[in-house]
Amino acid sequence: DPDNGGAHDIYIMGATGVGKTALINQFMTSEYMSAYESFSVDESADTKAVTVMLDGEEAELIFHELNTTDFEKSADTLKDTADAYVIAYSITDRRTFERAVDALYCLHQHNEGIYKAVIMVGNKSDLARSRTVADEAAMSVALQYGCKLTEASAGINHNVDELLVGIIKQIRLKKRKL
Ligand code: GDP
Repeated sequence: DPDNGGAHDIYIMGATGVGKTALINQFMTSEYMSAYESFSVDESADTKAVTVMLDGEEAELIFHELNTTDFEKSADTLKDTADAYVIAYSITDRRTFERAVDALYCLHQHNEGIYKAVIMVGNKSDLARSRTVADEAAMSVALQYGCKLTEASAGINHNVDELLVGIIKQIRLKKRKL
């Protein structure tokens, strides 16, 4: 993809129920998006596209839902198309965090962390009282794999715009380094 103008393919990975669909739906209603260009590429494939304006630069974002095993199966194809990976877990479900760590390991094995934006997100931050994944555990994994880490709530739309901006900034930063 060229530095700007080209579409960015963003893969939202994570276990069932962590809020991948909810996050994408919130991205689609972000204040950064140009509403006139939001469209669904392919409903059946869980793919949605949107055009956002950030720092005076337009970016077309295509969101794909993906589970880790699908990544492993099609890593070679994905390596050619993906611009960013968002690894989601639920802060209330330890097993989804373990799946997120698996996904990070898998990306690492394929050297995707070096050239691609990789962001881990602890979703459902509104349910902090039922938290089973400690901040420290997530921070240490993020440090180990050199990825960004944030918490958000797709449910109450908290920190989701910030996550979207973070994804775009990371993509631009990584592309500049190529
Ligand atoms: P997916 O399987 O990863 O796509 O997960 P979904 O987006 O379908 O969400 C699974 C369930 O979690 C749904 O009932 C959502 O309403 C709920 N959910 C998603 N995000 C949040 C959140 O941030 N907070 C809360 N409390 N519930 C959420």
